[in-house]
Amino acid sequence: MNPVVEVESLEVKFGDTWALSGIDLTCDRGHIHALLGPNGAGKTTLFKAILGALDHEGVIRTDPQPLRMGHLIEYPAFYARLTVLENMRLHADYLGVSHDQIPALLALVGLEPHMGLRCSQTSLGMRQRLGVARSLIGDPQLLLLDEPTNGLDPMGIRACRELLKRVRDECNVSIVVSSHNLTEVAALADRLTFLKAGRVIHSVCRNEESQQDLEDLYVCLMRKDN
Ligand code: ATP
Repeated sequence: MNPVVEVESLEVKFGDTWALSGIDLTCDRGHIHALLGPNGAGKTTLFKAILGALDHEGVIRTDPQPLRMGHLIEYPAFYARLTVLENMRLHADYLGVSHDQIPALLALVGLEPHMGLRCSQTSLGMRQRLGVARSLIGDPQLLLLDEPTNGLDPMGIRACRELLKRVRDECNVSIVVSSHNLTEVAALADRLTFLKAGRVIHSVCRNEESQQDLEDLYVCLMRKDN
């Protein structure tokens, strides 16, 4: 089966700075693909380029074309005075899709009991979960999630991990996720790609690495002159 996304020789420049250079990446259909790398490595920029939100050189091929993509990039923004439910409805209206699936999506992320709460009254973790629920509106074929467990407590992190696996397995959605949490990534991803200073420096199937090996590998890769 064709990959859901193939990136070839991708370059993104901000002014005189190359944020991404020579990126080659293949995201397999139905898999969770994790991007790892230090602050400023280019993970968010890569998400934005795949979304078509940035000028770039190189090729980004999707299958199908166009691909329905949901995303959670950086901290998700919501209308503070609107409720959880109203924010979801507004996004569905923006996408031109019905409201029918919203209660199920809120239930999926455990927010159904809080759907009447104004967003100004929600916690950081609740907003992260709302961001994931919002990214699922419109039946995306690919989810791009930039540090979705930011601000979640340990129970929330585990719930998010289980949620993403369910989304992959039950909704047949491919997922690209970035994280700084190696434990979380080791338990979640099918493939790990390491970025450093705008380049891919390593890519590996998760099963090839135990969690301790993964930490050692990360430290070794980031210390090395690549
Ligand atoms: P973090 O882990 O901190 O979220 P990241 O891996 O997501 O980092 P990016 O946000 O993609 O990194 O940034 C990659 C590089 O591009 C950095 O050097 C950053 O300063 C630069 N950059 C990102 N956005 C812009 C912009 N709009 N204008 C100029 N430079 C930018």
